[in-house]
Amino acid sequence: MVKINENFFALKESYLFSTTARKIREYQAAHPDKPVIKMGIGDVTKPLTAPVVAALEKASREQGDARTFHGYGDEQGCGFLQQAIVAYYRETAGVELKQNEIFISDGAKSDVANFTDLFSDDNVILIPDPVYPVYMDSNVMRGRKITLIDGNEGNGFLPMPYEGLEGDIVYLCSPNNPTGAVYSREQLKTWVDFANANGMIILFDSAYEAFVGDKELPRSIYEVEGAKKCAVEFCSLSKTAGFTGTRCGYTVVPEDIVIGGRSLNKMWLRRQTTKYNGTAYIVQRGAEAVFTPEGMATCRANIEYYKENARIMADALTELGIWFTGGVNSPYIWLKCGMDSWEFFDMLLNEIQVAGTPGSGFGKCGEGYFRLTAFNTHENTAEAMARLKKLLKK
Ligand code: PLP
Repeated sequence: MVKINENFFALKESYLFSTTARKIREYQAAHPDKPVIKMGIGDVTKPLTAPVVAALEKASREQGDARTFHGYGDEQGCGFLQQAIVAYYRETAGVELKQNEIFISDGAKSDVANFTDLFSDDNVILIPDPVYPVYMDSNVMRGRKITLIDGNEGNGFLPMPYEGLEGDIVYLCSPNNPTGAVYSREQLKTWVDFANANGMIILFDSAYEAFVGDKELPRSIYEVEGAKKCAVEFCSLSKTAGFTGTRCGYTVVPEDIVIGGRSLNKMWLRRQTTKYNGTAYIVQRGAEAVFTPEGMATCRANIEYYKENARIMADALTELGIWFTGGVNSPYIWLKCGMDSWEFFDMLLNEIQVAGTPGSGFGKCGEGYFRLTAFNTHENTAEAMARLKKLLKK
């Protein structure tokens, strides 16, 4: 008889976003005259920019014409987009990559989860807490042993390796979701050295790299010497260019990563050519437009808009004397609420009609913390912060 993957039943049910959505819905139904400002959403609010839309339209027309139609493409992505990404890394991070080290996909979530295919199930996985849930759940599905590494006020929610820490694969996310915290070059160098010294792999999620404005902070782990020997980097156009509903990401697998004589780059190529048939041609043309000067300028303007919201939030919290991380080089602010995360959620919803996300939903270390996002209008963000100041100054 068929046997199912019992590991699925070890997954913790996540009620976080369904519960916050239900509570907001119920509050709104009971108080239609008090509109709730939603600051819990991790999705962009601005549409695709004009150069991207023009490229998508043009590519759509190509697909409707026998002379320019494209069928199946290369599973690892179109050369024009890989080359645009090589140039992007060179310009923004001073990093040199080869075209065949870049794999185009339908987003970072699927790549982060699918990459687990390449490793044996007896590896020990190190996962920061609090965390973007995909790292955890995709490994729980494989029945792997997971060790949590704690983020807290002491380490600024940027867990570091320590004497005696044992593991084979570590997930790092910077700028971080949910905390907005960003690793410095020195901190990443410590991780890279630790990984190389201990035969570990770093799975580095840089989905929010475009929010890093501070030149002192790294946008890519490959800015750190030695990273090409131990780190795979996952990136996405979701937050960089508003592709959350259009879907495009890319993963960098350096040729230099060799484990037991096996090339991780070749393994990922084999995995993708076996299980993935490539990202839509139209979408890749839209993605290519993101990396043109006009595309970059328009996407940058949207990012600056969100970052202005983050600044409005950071200023309000600073004025209130509340401890927080993020908000400067990230669309997320992670604040210490000084009470149970859900109680704080209820208080903000009921008293000032502002909705965020309880930190405890992202892991045990998130208890007592709260996430606000910058994906909103300036007006709503300023209004929410004015209400928060009034409430907390009471
Ligand atoms: N990585 C992190 C840290 C995220 O927060 C998200 C989305 O919220 C993703 C990856 C997913 O990106 P994509 O839309 O490209 O799948």
